Amino acid sequence: MDRTFRIKVRMRRFRRQYPRIAFAIRSFMIFSATFGGAYGFVSGSRSENSGYDPNTFAIGASFLFALACLGLATLSMRLRFVNKRMRALAAHNEALIDRNWELKEAEERARNLFEQQGDLIVLRDHQGRITFANDAYCVLAGQERGALVGTRFDFDVLEQGDDARESNGTRIHDQRITTPLGARWIAWRESYVRLDAGQPAELQSVGRDVTDRTETERALTDARDQADAANRAKSRFLAMASHEIRTPLNGIIGMGGLLLDTTLTPEQATYARAVKTSGEALMALIEELLDYSKIEAGKLDLEQRPFALSTLIEEITELLAPRAQAKTLEIAAYVDERLPLEVVGDAARLRQVLLNLAGNAIKFTASGGVALIVEPGIWPNEISFLVRDTGIGIATDAQQRIFREFEQADERVARTYGGTGLGLAISERIVKRMGGRITLTSEPGKGSTFEVAVPLAPSQADAGQTAFPSPDLTGKSILLVAEGIEASLIARRLERWGGQTCLVSDATVAEALLPERSWHAVLVDRAIGATDHLGEVARAHAPQRLVLLTSSSRHEKISPTFTGFLVKPLRAASLAARLALTPEVASPDLAPEPLPETTRQAPAKGLSILVAEDNEINALLMRSLLTKLGHRVVIAVHGEAALESWLAASSAGTPYDLVLMDIQMPQLDGIEATKRIRVHEAATGGHHTPILALTANTLVEDRYACFEAGMNGFLIKPLDRDKLEEALAGLAASRHLAV
Ligand code: ADP
Repeated sequence: MDRTFRIKVRMRRFRRQYPRIAFAIRSFMIFSATFGGAYGFVSGSRSENSGYDPNTFAIGASFLFALACLGLATLSMRLRFVNKRMRALAAHNEALIDRNWELKEAEERARNLFEQQGDLIVLRDHQGRITFANDAYCVLAGQERGALVGTRFDFDVLEQGDDARESNGTRIHDQRITTPLGARWIAWRESYVRLDAGQPAELQSVGRDVTDRTETERALTDARDQADAANRAKSRFLAMASHEIRTPLNGIIGMGGLLLDTTLTPEQATYARAVKTSGEALMALIEELLDYSKIEAGKLDLEQRPFALSTLIEEITELLAPRAQAKTLEIAAYVDERLPLEVVGDAARLRQVLLNLAGNAIKFTASGGVALIVEPGIWPNEISFLVRDTGIGIATDAQQRIFREFEQADERVARTYGGTGLGLAISERIVKRMGGRITLTSEPGKGSTFEVAVPLAPSQADAGQTAFPSPDLTGKSILLVAEGIEASLIARRLERWGGQTCLVSDATVAEALLPERSWHAVLVDRAIGATDHLGEVARAHAPQRLVLLTSSSRHEKISPTFTGFLVKPLRAASLAARLALTPEVASPDLAPEPLPETTRQAPAKGLSILVAEDNEINALLMRSLLTKLGHRVVIAVHGEAALESWLAASSAGTPYDLVLMDIQMPQLDGIEATKRIRVHEAATGGHHTPILALTANTLVEDRYACFEAGMNGFLIKPLDRDKLEEALAGLAASRHLAV
C-alpha cells in the first residue's frame, strides 16, 4: 500500500516536473490503444476465416459498451469527488488568504506601533549595524530611517550612569547623550532577540528619555545635600550658641546662689531667688531645645548596655520624691518581680523619658499621687512602664496633639504650670527610636496614665539572678495602715510574697482589727496620724512594727514602740530586708537606715585645687564656692596654663589634690590637657591626680570622651555648693581624694 502510494506520488511529481514529456507519453498511449483496437477490429471483421458471427459480435459489442458505461460512471463519480475536494480546498484557501491578510495587517499595526513608540527602539545585527530604528530614534538621531538602516550609527555618550543586569540577561543602564535636540538622559534596556531561525540574534535596545526625571532627582539630591549641610550647620550653630548662652547663664545661676548665701533683706532674697529660678528655667529650656534639635537631625545614638531596672526606677522616684512631697503628693514605684533583674538598653534615655512623664504627672496633679509601675509587656522581651497620676487629666481632643512639639493641652492651664511643650515630643521620638511606643489614657479630672512599652532584652550576665531574696510570707498576716497609691502598691508586693495583707486607712479601725488575730507585721504610715498610740496597741499583737516616713520626716523622733522604720518611696529591697529580720534583731532604738555612701562620707576639706576655666565669671564662681568650702584654689585660664601649673606644682613636690577641668577652652581643650597629664603621670610613675570634668553638656558621648581621656568623673554646670560638696565627698569615698 505504501509502495503504491509512493509510486503514485513519484509519478505525480514527475508529471508536475515534466508536463511535456507526460503529455507526449499520454498521447502516445491513447494513440496506440485506439490504433490497436481499430486495427484488430477491422482486420478481424475482414478476414474470411474469422468465423464472424453477428450474434456473437453483438454480444461482444454490448459487453464492451456496458464496460465503457461502467468506466464512464466510475469516472463521473470520481469527478464529483474531486470537485468536492476542490471546493473544500478553495474554501480553505480563502480562509488562508483571510488569515494572511489579517497577519499582514497585524504586522503593519505592530510596525506602526514600533515606529511611533515614544521610547527609542533600535535593532542591530551581530556586527552592530542597524536593522531597524523607530521614528523616535530617527527623530533623536536627526536622520531618516533609510539613512540609518545598515549603518553603525550611535549617539555620543557624555556620561555613563549606573549599570545593572537583570536575571534574564537584560542590561539596564543610563546614558547622557548628545543629540541635535541637546543633551538627553536615556534609560536603556538591552537584550538579544532571535528574529529568524538559523540567523544570529539581534541586539534590541529600548531607550526611554528620562531627562526630566533625572534632572529632578539630581535637583532633589542637591537640595537634600544642601539641607543636610544646613542642618548640620544648624546643629553646630545650636550647640555653639547654647554653649555660649549657657556659659553666662551658669554665671547668673551660680552668682545668684552665692548672693543667696550672703545676708540679704527679705526683699533682696526674693529678687535673688527669682533671678536664680529664672536662670534655671532658661537653662532647662536650652537643654530641651538642644536635645530636640539633635533628635530632629537624626543624631540620637542609643546605647546598648546592661542596667538594673529596679535601680533605675527607684532612682527616678527618689529624685522626684522631694518635688512630690513638697506638694503633699505621694510617689511610689512597683517593679514586677517576673521581670529580669538587668536588661540591655539605653538607661540614660529611658530615664529621661520616664523623668519627663513622672515630672509632668507631679506638675499636673494637685492631690493624690503618682505611681510608676513596671510590668512585662504584651510581646516577648517587651517591658511596659506605666506612669499613672490622679491629676487634672487630658481632654480627648488634646490627647494626640500634646505629642507634637510646642503643643500643650490647654493654653490657660499651661500658663499656670509653665513648660515648653517639647518634653512629650522628645520622649515620643526617643521611644520610637528604641522601637517602642508611647500611649496615653486619660479622663479629665480623674488623672492620666502614660504607657511606654519598649523592647528590652534581658542581660546575659543576669541569668537566674534575683535582686534580693524575697521573704516568704506564706500564711502570714500583715496589717498595713496607710492609704493612697503607695499603700496599694505595698499591698500588691506583700501579696506577691505570699502574705495575707489587710489594708486599712483608719487608725481606729486598725486598732479594732489588731486583737482579731496574730500579725506577722504591722506597717503604719505616719501620714495617717495617731501612729504612736497605734504602735503601742500593736506591741501586744505583732512582733514587727514598722512605721513609714517621708524623707523630710525621717529625722523626727519616732516612738520606741516601733521596731523599725522605712522611708517613702519604699525600696522593695528595704521592705524585704525589714520583713525578713527577726524582731529581736531589729533594733528597738531605731538606728537610722544607712545613708548612701556619698552623703555619709564627710566632704574633703582644705584641698589644693586647680581649676582650669576660661570664662572669667565661671572662674570667679568656682573660686568663691571652693573657698567657701575651705579649699585653696588656683585658676588657669586655658588648658596650656593648666598643664603648666600642674607640672610646676608636681615638680615642686606640692601636687594638686584635685583638678577641675573645663572641657571647651582655647589653645588646649580639657580633654587634651587631661590626656597630657595622664601621659606625664604614666611616664614618671608619679601621683595620680583626680580630675573632674566641668561640662555643660549632658550628652552621653561627651561623658565617654571624658572617661576615655582619663578623667575620674564630671560635674555638670551650673554648679552650686551642694553639687560640688557632693562630688568632693564622692571622690573621697572612692578614695581618690585624701580626706
Ligand atoms: P510641658 O510639660 O513642658 O508643657 P510636655 O510635652 O511634657 O511639655 O507636655 C505637653 C502638654 O501635655 C502639657 O503642657 C500638658 O498640657 C499635657 N500633659 C502632659 N502630661 C500631663 C499629665 N500627666 N496630666 C495632664 N496633662 C499633661
